[in-house]
Amino acid sequence: MSLHSLRVPGGSIMTPDLSIVVPLYNEAEGLPFFHANLSAAAAAEARARGLTMEIVYVDDGSRDGSAALAANLPVLGIDIQVVALSRNFGKEAALMAGLDHARGDAVMFMDGDGQHPPEMIPTFLRLWKDEGYDVAYAVKADRSDEAASRRLFVRAFYKLLNFGAATAIPEDAADFRILSPRAAAALRRMPERNRFFKGLSSWIGFRQIAVPYRPAPRAHGSTSWSFLRLLGLSMEALTSFSPAPLRLAAAFGAILAGLALFYGSWIVVERLVWGIPLPGYPSIVVGLMVIGGTQLLVMGLMGEYIARILSEIKARPVYYVADHVLNRAAADAAGH
Ligand code: UDP
Ligand code: MG
Repeated sequence: MSLHSLRVPGGSIMTPDLSIVVPLYNEAEGLPFFHANLSAAAAAEARARGLTMEIVYVDDGSRDGSAALAANLPVLGIDIQVVALSRNFGKEAALMAGLDHARGDAVMFMDGDGQHPPEMIPTFLRLWKDEGYDVAYAVKADRSDEAASRRLFVRAFYKLLNFGAATAIPEDAADFRILSPRAAAALRRMPERNRFFKGLSSWIGFRQIAVPYRPAPRAHGSTSWSFLRLLGLSMEALTSFSPAPLRLAAAFGAILAGLALFYGSWIVVERLVWGIPLPGYPSIVVGLMVIGGTQLLVMGLMGEYIARILSEIKARPVYYVADHVLNRAAADAAGH
């Protein structure tokens, strides 16, 4: 699947030093502008450092012609690969497709909606090349642009995700990041199908650093993450990353059992020692509802983990590629 040494017409094998992976889902409207910006920033940096780079656009089943548009973008100094998936597989799958097709040893992830400023590319390269960091990731400087409810949800999500975890996933980290060759190799070696790249790239260790940034407003369209979709991603991240929900469930069960034991003993004392007649009906109903509700909740939770296990066991491919295009920069322009 991986095209680390893609053979290109002319017989030479070219491996760029850095692949910039950009997932696209219905981003046609802003793509030409984004591409011009990205190419200019990347090409300038490539020249300054004597490196070769490529852009890998992964079209995640867009319905607005993003794939065709990407394949016809002008080559502005650096190679362009366009990997068009057979349908919408989701951002994490698109990132994995990009990682698999990236010919570069080092990899950068970047959103294609213009929210991740290409002006940060020199910073990322400095941290990787000059300061020897393996993972440099952008972190939102502030979330004041987002609704309070969303902020609350995100905060709670990370609290739960990092509960008792050995490697905490940094809160507010973006997918905008650079991975050194060994960090990218570490990610490529992961066998699991349910990926949550933000989590995985912190889990691998090595030298990591956060870079504060201010996301630009989306130039066109709207975010593709509805609340439900975000909830789905959170569930996937949680269940593939953390046993915390199971532990919380177990802890809750233990507390309930403890309370029941205490209450049970209390009733026995009331009846036998003090001889108080027992008005039982309401307490039974409340007890049943608490236990029943908790059991259903925990069963649903376990079901999520089982679903995760099932999808790992089925070992299906994470994505299918419908089209793959490589547009090379002129050899002299690329510095070869
Ligand atoms: N994206 C994708 N597949 C999807 C949803 C989104 O490849 O199913 C891409 C999208 O084109 C963009 C990036 O993932 O480049 C981030 O998406 P978006 O801007 O909607 O997310 P947000 O910035 O709101 O987190
Ligand atoms: Mg965005």
